[in-house]
Parts: sequence; C-alpha cells; structure tokens
Amino acid sequence: MSDKKKITRRKFIKIAGATSAVGIIAAAGIHKLTEFSSKAKGKIVIIGGGAAGLSMAALLDRWLEEPDITLIDPSDRQYYQPGFTLVASGVYEADQVWKKQEDCVPDNIKWVKDTVKEVNPVSNQIMTEANGNISYDFLVLTPGLQINWDKTEGITKETLGEGNAHSIYDFDGAIKTWAAIQKFSETGGKAIFTDTYTKHKCGGAPKKICLLTEHYTRKQNTREKAIINYYTAEKALYDVPYYVPRLLEIYKERNVDITLNTRLKGIDTVAKRVYMENIETVGEEKIVTPIIEDYEFLHFTPPMSAPDFVRNSGFSWTEGKLAAEGWVMVDKETLVHKTYSNVVCLGDCAGIPTSKTSAAIRKQVPVAAMNLISLMEGKSPTEKYNGYAACPIITDYGHVLLCEFDYDKNPQPSFPFTLLDMSKEQAAAWQLKVNMLKPLYYYGMLHGRGFS
Ligand SMILES: Cc1cc2nc3c(=O)[nH]c(=O)nc-3n(C[C@H](O)[C@H](O)[C@H](O)COP(=O)(O)OP(=O)(O)OC[C@H]3O[C@@H](n4cnc5c(N)ncnc54)[C@H](O)[C@@H]3O)c2cc1C
Repeated sequence: MSDKKKITRRKFIKIAGATSAVGIIAAAGIHKLTEFSSKAKGKIVIIGGGAAGLSMAALLDRWLEEPDITLIDPSDRQYYQPGFTLVASGVYEADQVWKKQEDCVPDNIKWVKDTVKEVNPVSNQIMTEANGNISYDFLVLTPGLQINWDKTEGITKETLGEGNAHSIYDFDGAIKTWAAIQKFSETGGKAIFTDTYTKHKCGGAPKKICLLTEHYTRKQNTREKAIINYYTAEKALYDVPYYVPRLLEIYKERNVDITLNTRLKGIDTVAKRVYMENIETVGEEKIVTPIIEDYEFLHFTPPMSAPDFVRNSGFSWTEGKLAAEGWVMVDKETLVHKTYSNVVCLGDCAGIPTSKTSAAIRKQVPVAAMNLISLMEGKSPTEKYNGYAACPIITDYGHVLLCEFDYDKNPQPSFPFTLLDMSKEQAAAWQLKVNMLKPLYYYGMLHGRGFS
C-alpha cells in the first residue's frame, strides 16, 4: 500500500466519528455551507485549540488550497464543556465529555504542544514556554478565557468540594457536584446558587444546575427538606428579556427564591457560610449591603477574564465595559482586531457583546475564516457576524428552554421545533441538548462542518 493510501488510527477514528454524525448534522438542517476554496498564502498560527481554535483550523484547512497552519495548545484533552452540566446532574458519565486532543487536531495542522507566554503583534512573534519564538503572518486568537478562582476568598480550584462548595466550571468540579447533589437530596437543608459579576461562559449554566438540583430532590421525593435560593449579580434573572417572563414563572413554580444585584465575595468552608454583597444603585449612589448566609450545599460561579497573556500583549479593549476583564478588541461584526488587521479573534476571549457559548462560536467560525482569507488575499473583510448565541437552559430532567438571540437580543430560532413557541421550555430541546449537540461538536464543528 502506498503511503498516501495508508490510513492512520487517528484518521480512522475521525472518519468513523464523522460518518456517524453526518445523519445528525443533516437532520439538524445545518449542513448548508457553500463550498469555497482560495489560493491565498501565508503562515497562520492559531493560539488555543478548543471549540473556536480547532473549528477554525479544520475550516481553513478545507478552504485553503495550500494551507500552512500551526496550532499552539498545551492541552492533552478536548473537553466538551457544555456537557459538564450533564455530568454534574448524572445524565452523562464523566468520560463522555472529553476526547484525546491528538484525535481531534486535523491531520494537516502542525500542533505545537506548548503554552503561549506573550505575543508581540508589531513584530508578529509569539513567545512560548518551551519552543522559543514562533512567527506568523496571520494570527487566530482563540485561547478561551481564564477562570480567576483566586477572586473568591476561602476557596481555590484545588479545594473545590471542601465545605460542600462546588462549581461545574471545572471538569473535576462537575464530577464532585453530582456526588454532592445526590447527598443533598438525602440530607436536605439550604442550597445556595450564585453567578458572578464578570462576563462568564454560558450565562445559563448556574441556572441550569440550580433547576436540575431542585428537580432531582423532587425525583427523590425529598423536596420538602430543601430550601433553594438563587443569587445573581445582575439586575435581571437573564439578560435577554424575551426569555425572562417564563424563567421567572419557572422559579416561582419551583419555589426557588431569587435575589438580584448580589455578588459572592468569599466562602468559609469550615462553617459552611457565604459572604455576599448586595449592591443597589440609587441615582449616582451605590448602596452596599453585606449578606451572610449559612448553607448545606453551595454552587458558585467564579469570576472570569481574558487570559493574562492576552492583556499583556496589548490585544485588549482599553476603555468601555469590556476593558476591565481584558477581552480582545475586535470588530463585533468582522471579528478582525481593531488595531492589528492580521489578527482575528473569536470564542470566549473575544470582546464582543454576546454570550460566551459554543453555539455562538458555531456562527463565528465561518465569518472569521472567510474574513481571514480575504485579508490574506489583500481584500477587505466583508462577512458579518450578527451576534447569534444560544444557551439551552435546562429547566428539568426532560425540558430545555432553548434561548437563541442576536446582538439586539432578538430571538433567532434555528431549529424547526423552536418555531412552535420558543419562549417556553420543550422536550424536543432536551433531546437536542442531550443527544445531538455533542456529536455535532466532535464530528461536525471540529471537522469544519455544520456551521450555517
Ligand atoms: C459548565 C459549562 C456549561 C456550558 N454550557 C454551554 C451550553 O450549554 N451551550 C454552549 O454553547 N456553550 C456552553 N458552554 C460554553 C462553551 O463551552 C465555551 O463557550 C466554549 O468552549 C469556548 O470555546 P473557546 O474555543 O473560546 O475556548 P476553549 O474551548 O476553552 O478553548 C481554549 C483553548 O485554548 C488553550 N489555551 C489557553 N491558554 C493558552 C495559552 N496561553 N497558550 C496556548 N493555548 C492556550 C486551552 O488549552 C484550550 O484548549 C459551557 C461551558 C461550561 C464551563
């Protein structure tokens, strides 16, 4: 057999997976991407091979006739992070939400398994931890976001779970959360759920785990033993008004108390006590009221920001709402950096006013890839991203409120069943969430397919 015809194990796994996913992608009616190819040349480096970086790698590899693409990422694993909520609620096993990164990186891509320390966007040089400097002609910035565990006093990533304080924003944390929810359904007591004051990935995740915990206690016939309280740092339960009335109804029906404008400051894991601040704005004045609560079970959301190297490299917004956490200063439609026109940025680290979700990335990838190719061809970027994001808010074991919206917070239904009434939770959306989105991720998006 000639070398060209030999099929490697890595390639076999990819082909097998892609084949089984074809039906799902076709059924979802989303494999409509018009084929395209370009002779554009240039060395592309992608920093970060998660949802955004690997999808970009796969699509650019398909669209460029002579691709020269390098990926820098230190991770051994490709996590399907939206599945963490399902691990934490016992729907998925932990091993169902990750694959080896070596089986996910497209064959044609040069993978440098390393961490970026800094980038000099003037000289187009990337400083890595172990491989010295790497140069680029065009840069795809997709390192996701940084979870700042140290910004919540009394707990670290390593001590998650101590004092029954949990977070599904970590893989091991999600596993521990499931054990704790089962135990809580036996003991009862007060459960506290918080989100955070920074932009964070999947704004719906803290609500999902709260509502699933509530339903789990009902499934175990122990609901009367539990008091469940939800604290949000925001001034509304959700920042897309269209979905708020039904969400409020659900919380009321389920007897989950909501407190707005409240942020978590610290946790005493020995006493099982949280320290929070309620911040009300009256005119120009901010009135800060401390809240201290004892709990039996806690689920919290840590503050998040752009990775430190992104800020230190001068990629971040310097003014406006997105500056404080260092999100990257890109044009919200073209996803091209506002200062460095050979840089595109998408995914969680992008400084754009929409939700940080894989669903948003699904729509960002073809725009960013096409615009990057235009830049490589010496043309202006013309493709536009409308801010589409989706957040499937799981409301119980069996139903999901599929929130889909754009920059203007208008509903943007993309699945036929949501056209019935997308303001309400649906069983079909649960099926989509539990059975279809993960294969769509691993065998669609990461293969450069299933975007439109
Ligand atoms: C609990 C939870 C629930 C979620 N639920 C949903 C949901 O229901 N629906 C949905 O659409 N989305 C959901 N999301 C959000 C979704 O997972 C993220 O938006 C998405 O994974 C972000 O993709 P990304 O490529 O920007 O970043 P990531 O996928 O996080 O990838 C970033 C990559 O960059 C690499 N990297 C980081 N720093 C460096 C560096 N210095 N040098 C080199 N490489 C680096 C990392 O190793 C990683 O591989 C959820 C997330 C969580 C945690």
